[in-house]
Amino acid sequence: MPKFYLTTAIDYSNGDPHLGHALEKVGADCIARYRRLRGDDVHFLMGMDEHSQAVLQAAEQNGLEPKAWVDRMAATFESYWRRLECSNDDWIRTTEPRHHRGTTALLEQIARTNPDDLFVGEYEGLYCFGCEEFKQPSQIVNGHCIEHPTLELVPTKERNHFFRLSRYRDRLLALIRSGEFKVEPAIRRNEIVRLLEDGLQDISVSRNRQAWGIPFPGDPEQTVYVWFDALINYLSATGYPEAGYERLWPADLHVVGKGITRFHCVIWPAMLLSAGVALPREVWAHGYVQWEGTKMSKSAGTAVSLGEAIDRHGPDALRYFLLREVGFEADGNFTWDRFDERYTADLADGLGNLASRSLAMVAKYREGIIPASAAETPLDQAGLEAVGAYAQAMDVLDLRGGAEAAWGLVARANLYIQQVAPWALAKAGKDAELDAALGALGRALYRLAVLSGPFVPGKARVLWQSLGLAPEALERAWVQLAAPPVSGAATNKPEVLFPKPQSV
Ligand SMILES: [Zn+2]
Repeated sequence: MPKFYLTTAIDYSNGDPHLGHALEKVGADCIARYRRLRGDDVHFLMGMDEHSQAVLQAAEQNGLEPKAWVDRMAATFESYWRRLECSNDDWIRTTEPRHHRGTTALLEQIARTNPDDLFVGEYEGLYCFGCEEFKQPSQIVNGHCIEHPTLELVPTKERNHFFRLSRYRDRLLALIRSGEFKVEPAIRRNEIVRLLEDGLQDISVSRNRQAWGIPFPGDPEQTVYVWFDALINYLSATGYPEAGYERLWPADLHVVGKGITRFHCVIWPAMLLSAGVALPREVWAHGYVQWEGTKMSKSAGTAVSLGEAIDRHGPDALRYFLLREVGFEADGNFTWDRFDERYTADLADGLGNLASRSLAMVAKYREGIIPASAAETPLDQAGLEAVGAYAQAMDVLDLRGGAEAAWGLVARANLYIQQVAPWALAKAGKDAELDAALGALGRALYRLAVLSGPFVPGKARVLWQSLGLAPEALERAWVQLAAPPVSGAATNKPEVLFPKPQSV
């Protein structure tokens, strides 16, 4: 089994999770579930970024010690990820000893491998506490950070440790251009290439002693810069520097937001090159969930309650809507109206209705047993094509394309029912044709239970069970998609997968 080590960005412990966080987590989870279906040995990491001044300030504002505050925030985030069925195998918090060990070890390894790469200097610039970084003139619009137009930039001057980032420009350009280090989608790769072509400045990697952070190795007056610390989580979660960390490392995929590509596609690989540690294979930078045209973010003051969005139609529906409508590539809009429309059309009237009417006919005409019928129908042809299109899209992280392929089969199957009218076949006593139709519908439902799983895992599980299939059989289901083994399956009366909304 090939291993597949997948990570999401770790989230700041300074406010509740919102839809932007949720898009990233369910997108990565969708990829993790798809890779498991394909037989990969998936290791999926999520976590929390618990240092930084912003976190310390949030703790103070809430009258808590920082440790008590980050414990509370981690519990809140995790409770949302459990509700949304994120299937992460590990959960790292940067306040954990394993992460402190990994961070210290990587800095020491850089100092050993390339002693010139770390040096002491003085930094003067405009600091954004939302980003926790000094901003370059190109990142400032009307005197404010592009990402945080409501925050004041703070003039800051201090003695810091620096990292010789400039040294790595040519190697990074070559690695990205050759695809050895993949940056996707292409629009993000082009941005990073342009940034590299403009040249790199060395960066400050410590702050004057801060009460909340990791002491800089060999200089306790200084604290490791929070971004330097945060990036290392992906490595420290593998057990680095202990022997055996290469069982997981290098990461196969880092999923991050488009606002932090410079950290993940420039600074992080440069740190690893400097230390002589292998680079991650790919970074995928998704877009933002927009609310009435603006980025949804706590510090920008525009956020829709994640709890409310989950409660609206349930966690599966929110997952589906985010990945199908908002999308995992460019920015996309979230509106309640569109959410309700998609829910009704694609889930209640689409997949849900297909499952309930198909199983109802199997119950009514064949006592709940899916008839054995090898007849090749147009629906089987459509099913095979959907599986091919789905795999092609999912392999390149086109999650919307994957959902379109699966739900295209839903529409095709609902149309098939209208066209063959099984009730008319029953009435006319055309048994062989009725068997062929119900068998084809059984195979379509099998395929859909598998293909929809990464998007709507809870409902896919219910559908699977209502086909009379054992939960563990789902692990081997991908290879059965060419000829789903449903002949003779004893189906159960399905619960309504997606109830029609009462009054929304
Ligand atoms: Zn900012």
